[in-house]
Amino acid sequence: MKYIFTLLLLILTIQIPRAQEKTMCITVDDLPVVPYGIDDHDFHLEITKSLINTFDQFEIPAIGYVNESKLYNNDEVDSAKVKLLEMWLQNGYELGNHTFSHKNYHQIPFEEFTDDVLKGEKVSKKLSKEYGRSYQFFRHPYLRIGNSQAHADSLVDFLQTHGYRVAPVTIDNEDYIFAKAYHNAFKQDDGELMKKIGEAYIEYMTQKMKFYEASSEKLFDRNIAQTLLIHANLLNAHYLDDLAGVYKQHGYRFISQSEVLEDPAYRTPVTRYGNWGISWIDRWAISRKVGREFFEGDPATPDFIRNIAN
Ligand SMILES: [Zn+2]
Repeated sequence: MKYIFTLLLLILTIQIPRAQEKTMCITVDDLPVVPYGIDDHDFHLEITKSLINTFDQFEIPAIGYVNESKLYNNDEVDSAKVKLLEMWLQNGYELGNHTFSHKNYHQIPFEEFTDDVLKGEKVSKKLSKEYGRSYQFFRHPYLRIGNSQAHADSLVDFLQTHGYRVAPVTIDNEDYIFAKAYHNAFKQDDGELMKKIGEAYIEYMTQKMKFYEASSEKLFDRNIAQTLLIHANLLNAHYLDDLAGVYKQHGYRFISQSEVLEDPAYRTPVTRYGNWGISWIDRWAISRKVGREFFEGDPATPDFIRNIAN
């Protein structure tokens, strides 16, 4: 009898958490920071420190995607900017390639784009090696993977040849518009408005999470391992802890970039192309020729946020 109980308990503990488990990889783009014109090292340092503190606090194995053009001052590498990347690595976080200067692959030829990819790995690749971290992931600027099969395939081949793995995004969002608004309020020293924007951001991101969970259910009959895209800006420096709290409350466990790609959903083929930069869930859905209603209910950025951002 005792053994049966133990066995039952074992089955329950193994099966229940797995069935309910939600996982998410948090990826941060446009490193070292998105400064919106504030070229002050202490400001950049504060953003970086604050993001890293939240990763530590919530056990988020985050990855940061770097635009190395931001490391330069008049053709010379600025060691203070490189220090910011080193902080990521020192604290156990990974870096990836987001191209040198954030060009839109849909607007330029293959050669020009791939030159920018290779130019974009010079500092981070060496640095990652020094800190014993892997350097293998690529994130497309504007999530532009190629607007035709041929344009996309040539990039897939190129990335593979150069040892890169593509890092898709599933929870796409407009955090950058909220961030621009937040930054404008910050420059006006309007704490009340900053708070209002921050709260609207958390509400919007909660809705985005629910929207992509529902999309995932429709497409895969389950909530796949999600990949969130956010940017390295002041808004996330101040609000990523609240956001991570929301995800935790909704049952998420945070996983790394390589772990999230173990979900077989990420091997779903993309077979249709267009001039879009969208969530991979939407790409996979378009490739499966779902109806228009699939995309309905996508939470919009409120007008008041757009107005402050402009
Ligand atoms: Zn970017």
